[in-house]
Amino acid sequence: MKLDEGIRKHGFRKWYERELMHSHAHLLLLLACAIGLMTSFAVFSNAAPLMQRALDAAAIALFAAVGFWSLKRYFFLLLHAEHVANQAVCSACKTYGRFSLVAGRATQDESLLVRCRTCQHEWAIVD
Ligand SMILES: [Zn+2]
Repeated sequence: MKLDEGIRKHGFRKWYERELMHSHAHLLLLLACAIGLMTSFAVFSNAAPLMQRALDAAAIALFAAVGFWSLKRYFFLLLHAEHVANQAVCSACKTYGRFSLVAGRATQDESLLVRCRTCQHEWAIVD
């Protein structure tokens, strides 16, 4: 979910929580792919018929590809959430994560203009 859409719909803290859960779901997928990859290597045998070896090789390639993709998604979602979270502190009153969206994608650098709910200070969060 996009940052401005997520903050508008759920608020920052829920958006952040959802991004972390989403990224860790990809980590679980990576773990499942690692188990599948090890199992595929364990059952692979050169003595097996050609069709069986082809299926085993396809399973190895599939688990490796999905595992690599899930690792990339895990890091992307986690680092993006942390990048935004590091900007979620109001510089005026030091309140963390309590802000509302003033304008999404309104500035030239594609940042979001937000307003602190405690002191009404405004700042930009770069997505
Ligand atoms: Zn504030």
